Amino acid sequence: MKKDSVLSTIYENICRDTGKQNESAKLIVVVRLLTLAMLIHSFVFCILVALTAHTGALAFSLISLVIFLAIFVSSYHCGTFVSYCILNVCILFWSVMNVYYFGWNIGIQHFLVVLLVFVFFSKYKHERAKILYASFLFILRLILYYYCRSHKPLTVLDADFSNALQVINSFFVFLSLGLVAYLFSTTTQEMEGKLIEYNRKLMKQANTDTLTGLYNRRRTMEYLDSLLKNAESQISICLCDIDHFKRVNDTYGHDVGDTVLTTIAEAFRKRLPPDTFVSRWGGEEFLLIFPRLNGDEAGTALEIFRQKLREIVFDGGSEKFTISLTFGLVEYDFHSDITTVLKEADEKLYIGKESGRDRVIF
Ligand code: GH3
Ligand code: MG
Ligand code: MG
Repeated sequence: MKKDSVLSTIYENICRDTGKQNESAKLIVVVRLLTLAMLIHSFVFCILVALTAHTGALAFSLISLVIFLAIFVSSYHCGTFVSYCILNVCILFWSVMNVYYFGWNIGIQHFLVVLLVFVFFSKYKHERAKILYASFLFILRLILYYYCRSHKPLTVLDADFSNALQVINSFFVFLSLGLVAYLFSTTTQEMEGKLIEYNRKLMKQANTDTLTGLYNRRRTMEYLDSLLKNAESQISICLCDIDHFKRVNDTYGHDVGDTVLTTIAEAFRKRLPPDTFVSRWGGEEFLLIFPRLNGDEAGTALEIFRQKLREIVFDGGSEKFTISLTFGLVEYDFHSDITTVLKEADEKLYIGKESGRDRVIF
């Protein structure tokens, strides 16, 4: 329990956002964790160097330790960007000095790759600056390499010790790289996930009617356009309209009218064949598309639906009531355009209304 609370305090402190309002909260965490990795690295180096009695190198390692400690502490006081710049410059300088002190064989120069990844991940713009920095790191690495070929390091290490440092450096390079890549990639993945979800919601909003949740006119036109263009099987289209809906609103109120609309939308979804495309065409008009049914089959489905609708009893407050719909159904002839098909369905609906409502006209 106590251990858990100590760990959570450390975690909270590392994650503490001390940056300015427009600065990334994630970046300061990466700066601190990377600084911690460098601190531990310097500490391990100090012990090893002390054990092998390289006094000059020990002084250098101690100074590194103090500097990284100072960067860690200052990350709580300077802004994120300042801490990020200081850490960058220090790792750069520290890498060069290490190569100068211990030579090429211990592999300190690989920390330049950590810097490259750190800089590329931490900013999402500044392409030119990133390319310039990458070129600078590459040239610096080449200069260090050729320098080491012609100069002996300040501290000549024996082969075993050199190998041990090489292993330790490899470990810390992988640790730092992994840390930077992991922390930034999770942000990118989270953002991508949120963006996909946001786009999906936007898409849904753009395609559906808010009251009933049915497809709206815009989406219906899109669907109908592609369906008729690629028509392979029979298609039936039906325009339907609630009978005397104005009376429902006038008698029981607009809210009850809304309930009628949502209840009918639900009934369409539940009681029509599963692949029926149901949309709210306007006010109290709906367009139903049966992508695989001929006129007779769609007519039968609609007739069953019409009769079932009578069983739905609405609560008007003072009294209960039922409603009916009139349906104008057409079968697609594989030639006509959308406007003609819809006009034909509208004419059938009109005939239905004129001849007494509550019927399917095909
Ligand atoms: P008909 O049988 O000839 O279709 O008669 P009707 O009363 O249904 O037709 P009319 O066009 O006269 O009235 C349609 C009504 O639908 C008028 C309008 O206020 C109502 N309406 C349209 N959209 C909504 C809505 O979203 N909610 C509610 N409550 N009423 C709506
Ligand atoms: Mg109506
Ligand atoms: Mg109408």
